[in-house]
Parts: sequence; C-alpha cells; structure tokens
Amino acid sequence: MRTRTLAPALLLLGSLALTTSCSTGASPNGPVPGGAGSAKTGTDTGSGVDPARIKGIRIVSDNSDDRSCRWAASYPDVPGAGAMTAAMKKDVDARLAGFRGQDGTPAAGCDGSSGASGPDDAELNVSFSFLVASGDVLGVRLTTLDRVSAGDGLDTRTYWYDGRNRTAGSALALIADGSRSDFVTAVQKQLRAEEGADPASLDDPANRTASLDDMAFTADGGLRVDFDRDTVGVAAGGRYTVTLPKATVTPWLSDFGKRVQSQTVNPSVGLDLGAASTPTAATPTHTASGDTTDCAAVKCIALTFDDGPAAPYTATLLTYLAKYDARVTFFTVGQNVVAHPELVRAEARAGHEVGNHSWNHPDLTRLTPAEIRSQLTRTSAAIKAATGKEPTLFRPPYGAINSEVRSLTTLSPVLWDVDTEDWKYPDASRVAQYVISKAGRNEVVLLHDIHPTSVAAVPEILSTLTARGYHFVTVSHLRATM
Ligand code: ZN
Repeated sequence: MRTRTLAPALLLLGSLALTTSCSTGASPNGPVPGGAGSAKTGTDTGSGVDPARIKGIRIVSDNSDDRSCRWAASYPDVPGAGAMTAAMKKDVDARLAGFRGQDGTPAAGCDGSSGASGPDDAELNVSFSFLVASGDVLGVRLTTLDRVSAGDGLDTRTYWYDGRNRTAGSALALIADGSRSDFVTAVQKQLRAEEGADPASLDDPANRTASLDDMAFTADGGLRVDFDRDTVGVAAGGRYTVTLPKATVTPWLSDFGKRVQSQTVNPSVGLDLGAASTPTAATPTHTASGDTTDCAAVKCIALTFDDGPAAPYTATLLTYLAKYDARVTFFTVGQNVVAHPELVRAEARAGHEVGNHSWNHPDLTRLTPAEIRSQLTRTSAAIKAATGKEPTLFRPPYGAINSEVRSLTTLSPVLWDVDTEDWKYPDASRVAQYVISKAGRNEVVLLHDIHPTSVAAVPEILSTLTARGYHFVTVSHLRATM
C-alpha cells in the first residue's frame, strides 16, 4: 500500500492561495479549488506574484532523476536579497545533506542500492512559492516533503526580506517584539477551538519559535499562521491553520510587518530591493526552420534536458545547440517555466521540443489522481503560455510511471535509453565521454540543463557525434521518422 496521506502537500507547492481565510484545522494543502485550472498564465503562484517579473531572478535547483535516491530541491535567488537567499540555501543544503547522507552521516534517503527500489522508498522534495514580491518586501515559502521523517513529513516555513533595512527575517519578524505575547495568546485562543490541538505547547519559547515559522497575510490583511503537524498537537485533518483578522493583528505588527501587510493587500508595481545591479542575461534569438532529417535514412540521437529552464545555463546551451543546428527536447519543470518563460520561448523558437516534467518534480506514482492531473496540466499551461503551444510529451520525474499516471493524461510518456547520471557526476568531460561512448542510433539520452557541467559537455558531444554521422533531433521527430 502506498502512502497517500501526504500527497495533498504537493498541490501546495507553489500554489498556496493567500485569499483563503478559513481558520479551522483543515489542511492548507487540502483540495485546491479549481486545482489545475487555477493556474493562470504567467502568474502562477496563486499569490498574484509573477516570478518572471522579478528582475535577475534565478531558480537554484538540485535534483536527482534516480529512482534509488529521489530528491528535488529548488529555491529562488533574487538580486538584492542575498541574506535571504543564504538563509534558504542553508536550510535546503541541511535537508539535502541529511537526506543524501553526506558528511559521513548515514544515508536516510539514498541507501546505495540502485534500480531495485520500490515505490515506498524515501523521497525529499523542497519547493517554493512567492508570497509577496512588491516594493521593498519579498516573501517566500519553502515547502519540504520528506517521506522518511516523522509526522506527516510536510514542513513549511516562510522567509521574509526587508529591502529597506536589508535584513532577512523569519515569520516572527512580522510581529513587534513587545507584542509577541499578546499575539501568541490570541493564536492559542483560536487553537483551543481545534480538536486535538495543544495550544499550551506555545508557552515554551523554543517550541514557540519553531512552531510559528510560517506566517503570511491574507488578501484582506489578516495574518494566517500555518502549523506543521505535531508542532501544536495532532490535527485530525492534518495541519492547523489560524487566521487572525486584520483589525486584531495590525496593532501587534512590527514596522516591517505593516509594510508586508500593505504590500500584500495593495502590491506596488514592482519589486525594488535596491540591488546594485540586476544581471540581465541575454536570451538567445536563434530561429530555426523545419527539420527535414529522416531518421530512417540517417543516424539520429535525441538528447533530452530535464529540470530546467535554469538561468544562465539554458541560454548557454541554446547557443551551443544553434552552432551545430542540433534539435533537442527539454523536459521543463513548471515552477521554473513561470520564472523563465523567455528561455522556454527561445527553446521553442530555435526548433527544440518543450515537454512537461511536472510542476515541482514529485514522484507522480505516489500522488492522488487530482494531484497528478494538477502537476501535469499546470505545467502544460505554463508551457503553452510561454510558447503558444501545448506540449505533447511528458517525462515522469525519476522515470516513475504506472498505469494510473498514464490513464490520467493525454501526454505521451518519454523515458530514456542512456542515463548519464550527470546529477551525480558534475564533470563535463565524464558526461561527454559517457554520451559519446554509450549513445547509439535512435536512442534517447538523459541530461539536465540545471547543471553547468552538463551544459559544458555539450559542444564535445555535438562535435564528436556529428563527425560520426549523427543528427540531433527532437523526440517527436525521432518517433515520427525512425
Ligand atoms: Zn528530473
């Protein structure tokens, strides 16, 4: 029996609706009204924040695509908010290290066996969503799903950046120091109405700080507090959520909290954190004509690049591919597509194929049908918004697919023939040599454009294999002509 109780969490990732004002113990990750349909083109975070409008944004991603060691972690790096990026990096790195068993600690998630792992093995997924990106205020929620940890394995926390004072803060930074006990008392009062809640646990200062790590304003200025499971009792329905109305909470807010509240209710036109300079990487403008390669007559290879787009690596890759007139297939992750629609547009314009690799890289075989649909349709909608074209292919994260996943989508699944394991070996010449020595006619090769070393391997792959008579085509082109 597969564990399904955690699955709703994945819908939350990147999609928590701030307009929700429920104050009961219902999971914030419960059924998302509209599900996949709630994905608006280009503004896909549910909070109205369009990450593509944040100048110089970079999504830091580190994933495996290995069934024996399933992890995927992403967080944003916004220019000017370096202290917050550093805090999120520390958080994510610690979780990844714990899961992967680095630094001599036992591997919780990666047991060293390969290939034989079943669906009940561990999985770590760290995802993000923007809460506010407006004026001099930036708010990000990180959501971790860790299927080897105790409790429900779901952990969310919010990070706040104050561009005026150049400081990064946790959720409690929204509350004035002198008002914290009044605030906590009000939260406890609401929790008392919840079945199974243990409000007294907030009396302990250490537990208080750990528990009150996820707060954000609602669209009408109220403050919503989300509690991870087992922090303030055991909720029958999952996690506890408390929302304090605007009139109640406003007197307790810090100056920074008041600005966050104001920017949530009435966002400014843009985000200005006073970054000295925002890097603006050029987007390649290569435009390709139709591909007439006949894979029945010549030797073809379909290179595929998963988990992007990623700035600046994807742009570099596009320039390499254009040089050799190579066509490839990108299996993009939805949360990265909405951050970098210009890169996805450049991929399509250059004659490459853009496929769907889910919204935030979960093992789809562990999700409910509604979640599987949401993961795929939100991503397809984001791809269509960027390129004007619906994808027809998808690659399941970790290659994990079953009949249920197949039955829930019209997208055609694509696995691979050659796995470079480039996420494990960040070594350009190793990756290049692996592809050159292993890839054969009409085979599909798995690479990742989130790794600079994989991108750096591409010129050698293209030059060597082109000299050996290979042509580089998209997966759909290969399938249509081989
Ligand atoms: Zn992947």
